[in-house]
Amino acid sequence: MGKTLRLVLGDQLNISHPWFSGRPDASVTYVLMEVRQETDYAPHHVQKVLAFFLAMRAFAEELRQAGHTVRYFPIDDPENRQTLGDNLHWLIASGDFDRFEYLAPDEYRLDVYLREFAAGLSIPSSMEDTAHFLTHRQELAEMFRGKKTYLMETFYRNMRRKHGVLMEANGDPLTGKWNYDADNRARYDGKAPIPTPWIYPQQVGDLLAMLEKAGVKTIGTVDAEAFIWPVTRAQALDALEQFVQKGLPHFGQYQDAMTGSHWSLFHSRLSFPLNVKLLNPLEVVNRAIREWEQRPGDIPFSALEGFVRQIVGWREYMRGVYWAHMPEYALKNYFGHDRKLPGFFWTGKTHMRCMQHAIGQSLEYAYAHHIQRLMVTGNFALLAGIDPAEVDAWYLGIYIDAIEWVEITNTRGMSQFADGGLVGTKPYVSTANYMDKMSDYCGGCHYDRKKRHGERACPFNSLYWHFYARHEDKLAPNPRIGYAYQTLRKMDPAERAATLAQAEAYLEGIEGL
Ligand code: FAD
Repeated sequence: MGKTLRLVLGDQLNISHPWFSGRPDASVTYVLMEVRQETDYAPHHVQKVLAFFLAMRAFAEELRQAGHTVRYFPIDDPENRQTLGDNLHWLIASGDFDRFEYLAPDEYRLDVYLREFAAGLSIPSSMEDTAHFLTHRQELAEMFRGKKTYLMETFYRNMRRKHGVLMEANGDPLTGKWNYDADNRARYDGKAPIPTPWIYPQQVGDLLAMLEKAGVKTIGTVDAEAFIWPVTRAQALDALEQFVQKGLPHFGQYQDAMTGSHWSLFHSRLSFPLNVKLLNPLEVVNRAIREWEQRPGDIPFSALEGFVRQIVGWREYMRGVYWAHMPEYALKNYFGHDRKLPGFFWTGKTHMRCMQHAIGQSLEYAYAHHIQRLMVTGNFALLAGIDPAEVDAWYLGIYIDAIEWVEITNTRGMSQFADGGLVGTKPYVSTANYMDKMSDYCGGCHYDRKKRHGERACPFNSLYWHFYARHEDKLAPNPRIGYAYQTLRKMDPAERAATLAQAEAYLEGIEGL
């Protein structure tokens, strides 16, 4: 009987995949590997590397327990050749395999790599779907063929219809309204107590020592006695339960809120288990819907819709944008920004309190919620004209959930407008006004949120106007941002000059901000 080798990548831990259902087949070997090729392509947060390896190890064990044959390469295995290709070649040559199969990678980089690898083999090979996403790779591109912008709202409504999510039988949206965004923009007022973050403590000292011994370079910190992230299917399901019970009721209302006194508010922190496929997107959404059905008085529909939109809408949408526009997307730089990322992105040592908190907690937990990523660090990087490649490398490394298909589309597209407006209809930038409206950051800050220039003027204020002034040719024609240019034109010339000079001075001394 022929023997088949099947590759499972670290973000393909989907136990419900058809590969693993049914009786184990003795002619099939599953291979998972911890390789330097993956730890070293960007400087990753130490918790991200640990989470991937822990999840892969647990998954391999789950497969073994179910009776499957598994070959696992730990990072320090003397037989580990440290690249996927070298390990696979060696296994195929030494294991007498006559067929190679792999699951469709989510990253373009690995898609090309494995296609080329498979094409070079002398045995037959095939690529299977991961049975995770609600859309196929080209679905979004097909939906928007010929269009300059891909409206997320149009895509989202199609997805709701296609999957019958929050729909009436007659094809109308449940409650008659598609979008509750307007109800989901409250500042955190302390009325609802923020739930204690649900964590999954385990000791990771041995694995950490193994990484250090192997010389894997990482960023950020970890508590080796109490690693916090869910890394097994059971933990991921528990995290989902905790979220629907404790986070969902206020998820919508405080979705955009930020506070210096907490790192995750009412957010689900399900992105890691979702992205490595420990959880399925429809399973997550359906569980939230069930909770809302059981507790309609506790969970406003706006909270449920806001959550469903993120997963059925944004997550699938970003994946579609990625596959429609890679590999060119990774080089997009609409504004031609080329400044180096300031050193404080790697330390959190800045006087801007919002940045201190967003970066500080990212280094501590490998996590920041969406508005911190978009309106604090992303906003600053865009206003300051940082090279999108540097911004991408930072986001790709630092977050627990960062995998290129969802990182780059959010970073280059949504946050840096480097695609010129494919994902977002206008740049997400703001002065300190927005920060103060949505957070308590400005209160204790070294800088004065009300000042555009002068001593201790908040850098976001002058940089905001500098950004619009320097990109007037590209942005002024955009009807969605006419108001900014109206204000700039009406601004007293001396005020304008002082504001732009302040921005120049801040950019000159950016490392000291
Ligand atoms: P919640 O707020 O609880 O949202 C629920 C789920 O919705 C998330 O788990 C996620 O799966 C999905 N979701 C929400 N917003 C988005 C979005 N914009 N795109 C895709 N899915 C979304 N998300 C990643 O998974 N990986 C990344 O590398 C990543 N990089 C980002 C970079 C920038 C600059 C920005 C602005 C956003 C990025 N996001 C990324 C999207 C989003 O910020 C995270 O998914 C979210 O913060 C994860 O935390 P959570 O699980 O608590 O999310």
